Amino acid sequence: MGKSLKNAFNGIAHRAVSYLQANVSNDDSLFKAVGTNADKERIAGIATRLAKSPTGRKNLEEARKAGYKIGLEYLGISTLGFCIPDEKMILLSSGVSDDIAISTLAHEARHAAQFEHAKDFDPKKNIKTALMLDFAMEADAEANGTLASWELKELGDKEPYKIQAQFAPTIVDVFDKAVKNHGIKTDDDKKKALTVAFTGWYNNTGIKNTYEDIYVDNLKRTPINEVKLNENLSSEEVISIICKYDEGTYYTGNPKTLETEKFLTISKENKDNLVLLMEDRKYFEKMSPDESLNEIKVRPKEKSAFNDNHEQENKSIKDKALTARIILNNARQSR
Ligand SMILES: [Zn+2]
Repeated sequence: MGKSLKNAFNGIAHRAVSYLQANVSNDDSLFKAVGTNADKERIAGIATRLAKSPTGRKNLEEARKAGYKIGLEYLGISTLGFCIPDEKMILLSSGVSDDIAISTLAHEARHAAQFEHAKDFDPKKNIKTALMLDFAMEADAEANGTLASWELKELGDKEPYKIQAQFAPTIVDVFDKAVKNHGIKTDDDKKKALTVAFTGWYNNTGIKNTYEDIYVDNLKRTPINEVKLNENLSSEEVISIICKYDEGTYYTGNPKTLETEKFLTISKENKDNLVLLMEDRKYFEKMSPDESLNEIKVRPKEKSAFNDNHEQENKSIKDKALTARIILNNARQSR
C-alpha cells in the first residue's frame, strides 16, 4: 500500500471508529460504558431503557457521580452482576438478556451509591453490625431494582418487572399487594413502597443464608489479628446509612426491627463457625470474644409438611438464591 493510500485508509478507519464512538450514546451525566463498541452500544441500550424510570435514573446518576463505569463480562451461570468498589466498576453479565440486565443494573448502581458510605466487608465491625449492614445493603438494592422495574411496567415496558418477580418473589409478592390499590402517586407512597420491598427481602431465608456464608467465609480468610469486631453501629445508624432517600431515609418502620429475630437469625452452621472463630481469636491473639454474637439467634431449620427430606429442600432454596445478584467482596477471586 502506497503512503498516500495508507493515509487515506487510516483516515477512513479513523472516521469509522469516530462514527461508532459518536453513536454510542454515552449520556455523560447518566453512565459511562466501557469495552468494545458492541459492548458500549449494548450497555447504552440497557442504561437508556432503565433511565426511563425515575428510580432507575436516580440510581444511575448516583453511581455516575460516585465515578463508576459500566462493563459487560461473562460472569458464569449464577451471577447477574457485580459492583466492585475498589475499581469503581459495575459489571453486568453478558450472557443474560437485556430484560434481566435492567433491574440488575438498578441494583448494582444502588450498591455503588451505598459503597460511598459503607464498606462491602469490614472486619472491624462487630458481627451484629456487619450482618445488619450486609442484609440491609442487599435488601435496599433489591428494593430499588423492584421499584425501578415497576415504574417501567407502568410506562409499558413490562418484562423487567416480570423478571424481578421471578428473581425476588418474596419482595414482589408483598410490594405488589402494597401498590395494587392506589399505585404510587406521592413521595410518601414511594417511601412506603420501598420500605415494603426492603422488608420483603428478609422473607427469603435462602438468600439471607447465602450472604451469611459469604460474610463468614470472608472472616475466615482474614488474618485473625485483623478480625477486630469492635466497632458498633445501631440499627438506626444502619438504616440512615443504607436506606437513603434524598437528604433523609425512605424507611418508614421502626429501625429496631432489624435487630429482631426475623431479620437477624443465622444458620446453626454459621453460628458454630463464628463461635469457633471466637475461640481461635482467644487462643492465638488473646482477643476477647465479640459479645454481639450472643444477640444473634440460630434460625430453626425450615420444615415442609410435604417433604421429609429437609436437607434437600434447604439445598434447593439455596440453589435458587445463588441465581440472585450478589454483592461482591472478592471480585477477582470469584469471577
Ligand atoms: Zn446485591
